[in-house]
Amino acid sequence: PVNRLPEIQEARLKLPVLAEEQVIMEAVRENPFIVICGETGSGKTTQVPQFLYEAGYASGSGSGIIGITEPRRVAAVSMSQRVAKEMNLSTRVVSYQIRYEGNVTGDTKIKFMTDGVLLKEIQKDFLLQRYSVIIIDEAHERSVYTDILIGLLSRIVPLRNKKGLPMKLLVMSATLRVEDFTENTKLFRTPPLVIKVEARQFPVSIHFNKRTPMDDYTGEVFQKTCKIHRMLPPGGILVFLTGQAEVNNLCRQLRQAFPFRRGNTTNGEDEDADTSEAMRTFKKTKQKKTVSLPRIDLDNYSALPVDEGDEDRDAGIGDEDYGGSDLEFGDDPASTEVKADPSIPLYVLPLYSLLDPEQQAKVFRPPPPGARLCVVATNVAETSLTIPGIKYVVDCGRVKKRFYDRVTGVSSFKISWTSQASANQRAGRAGRTEPGHCYRLYSSAVFGDFSLFSEAEITRRPVEDLVLQMKDLNIDKVVNFPFPTSPSTEALVAAEQLLVSLGALKEPPRSGSVKQMELARLSCPITPLGRAMASFPVAPRYAKMLALGQQQDCLPYVIAVVAAMTVREIFEDLDRTAASEDESVKLAQRRARLNQMRRLWAGQGASLLLGDLMVMLGAVGACEFAGCTPKFCEENGLRYKAMVEIRRLRGQLTNAVNSVCPEVGVFVDPKMAPPTEHQVVCLRQIVLAGLGDHLARRAQAEDILDQKWKMAYRTPLLDDPVFIHPHSALFKTLPEFLVYQEIMETTKMYMRGVSAVEAE
Ligand code: ADP
Ligand code: MG
Repeated sequence: PVNRLPEIQEARLKLPVLAEEQVIMEAVRENPFIVICGETGSGKTTQVPQFLYEAGYASGSGSGIIGITEPRRVAAVSMSQRVAKEMNLSTRVVSYQIRYEGNVTGDTKIKFMTDGVLLKEIQKDFLLQRYSVIIIDEAHERSVYTDILIGLLSRIVPLRNKKGLPMKLLVMSATLRVEDFTENTKLFRTPPLVIKVEARQFPVSIHFNKRTPMDDYTGEVFQKTCKIHRMLPPGGILVFLTGQAEVNNLCRQLRQAFPFRRGNTTNGEDEDADTSEAMRTFKKTKQKKTVSLPRIDLDNYSALPVDEGDEDRDAGIGDEDYGGSDLEFGDDPASTEVKADPSIPLYVLPLYSLLDPEQQAKVFRPPPPGARLCVVATNVAETSLTIPGIKYVVDCGRVKKRFYDRVTGVSSFKISWTSQASANQRAGRAGRTEPGHCYRLYSSAVFGDFSLFSEAEITRRPVEDLVLQMKDLNIDKVVNFPFPTSPSTEALVAAEQLLVSLGALKEPPRSGSVKQMELARLSCPITPLGRAMASFPVAPRYAKMLALGQQQDCLPYVIAVVAAMTVREIFEDLDRTAASEDESVKLAQRRARLNQMRRLWAGQGASLLLGDLMVMLGAVGACEFAGCTPKFCEENGLRYKAMVEIRRLRGQLTNAVNSVCPEVGVFVDPKMAPPTEHQVVCLRQIVLAGLGDHLARRAQAEDILDQKWKMAYRTPLLDDPVFIHPHSALFKTLPEFLVYQEIMETTKMYMRGVSAVEAE
């Protein structure tokens, strides 16, 4: 029995998914595989685990617990907390586990985790006997691990049932586009049952821009948000931008334009002195509201301007969620004469993945009385989190994604147009509690050119890590795996080749027919080294370094370097443009300090040749020595969050190594001494063993005749020059040969994480 607080119970009853509880639970009883589709905010993530709990799926004798996977860490943490609160249970019972942390106990009955965490668990126990139900949430995001998990569970569930240990799989999606799961007979021989949750979606009028700003779209977003706040009736505003820097900038601009209180406070919890004034304004505007809203067709979801009427195209979206709407264009309320009162305070909050959970939690709380909520978010607000009270959505139409060049492996973050499905998800955020408006800062013609859906991630990135994990699960013929969407054969071949060169897979025999050899290349068996590598929670290249690390007492250093290399950017971005002169001076000082520290961390003599990796090692060592405090990081240009992650990862990697080879007995030493000259030589060899195919050579005399090859390096796969970044420890040395972690294309093609290699 669950004892919910009355207000929680009341809020639950309003969620569309509650109406389907019986249908869902009956389906679960009768079927091993269920797909649940329902708009974001309909209550899937928070309620379905509770249904299962109340139906006894976590309490039968000998039965297991309920597991829910999320593609994003943010969602795993915040949803576990929300469900614990709704059920009035402790976080010992409703818990979470993400890569670096968790609060799971022996009493845990409902466990939220990232999809990567569950994949690791499958390696330890293929039948997942601890669980009676697995829910794969946010399946529409098509994250790599989600796809793999669905493939694996399509086999695990029948196995469990055959063994008399029944298990259920629920796949939950915010869109109805689930054919990749339901109509893929390789995956599910009998298609799973699909349950559609009818969400109460109020109509959202879509307003396209006439023209599409190509460069300064953030400026346009700012203008539009200001205009909405100045001119439109109350209701929260949700702005979609592409990344953290953009989000923070816009928050700053908006707070400057509409100071929440004198001195620009970001803390909305304070009862303002002018609250009552604001309250009056609020009531005034509220009365106006009824007159000012244009009439809206309750069945109309998506709309196009009549003058650009492109009905066929809209009908072609093929996203049943949006229910083949009649096309109608609501008046832009921003152009009607009634105005809201600009003296209402604007309560601006950022929202992105790396934000502290405490800051994130603010968006769920009501804004201070009388203030208008304005959340400036990245993609996390598209489907993972639902923010109450949003009436206006401002959509920049873009998304930031990592792109990999399939041949060269060069990666870059690019901002590109989002998909039609994503844009529609974003618009949908405006219609949860009442009719809303979505401002798309691009023309309907541009929208028409968007791809219909975002591609499954697995088709867009290298897959060596997945291939190794699968081989460790004894899936030798990865090509035959029931992927919802399969990666390309080239990507699979490239992955097997890399793994063979790392020694994780056995080389295929060079005999037989062409066809046989081709097949053999795609089904290399795993080696004992490969098994050890698969047990380390890092990409195969780094796992290889760990596997070699125990020689010459190098292991603690290898662990520290690998932890640093696999965490996103450990240095703060001090090259950013300053918002004020004041900040500009401060930034310059901090840059100078960081450069000084980098030189210090790079060491002297032999250490210098380890290059950027030595700098990382030095930074990690110094930071730990100082107790890994926010103050130390701040003063020395390190990202505190990154350093905390590195600390956790060091602990985790240390445990992993000890469990593979207990005789090593490695431990994390917070006062680690710098490596000796001899150890530096060994470390460079170990690094080369992992990054051997990432070799670059200084451009030769004949190249240098051409200006663009000055200071450049050549790599086997690229025709174009690549460079050492000015921040790199090796920028002045320019060694003849080096290895790099990756090539990132920004203003130029820069190698990240370089280390010098001896010419033989
Ligand atoms: P879905 O998974 O279908 O997108 P959710 O279960 O995430 O829906 O959300 C259901 C409702 O619960 C939403 O209206 C949302 O606003 C509310 N909600 C979710 N998390 C919180 C939270 N931390 N605080 C308050 N309300 C929340
Ligand atoms: Mg959800």
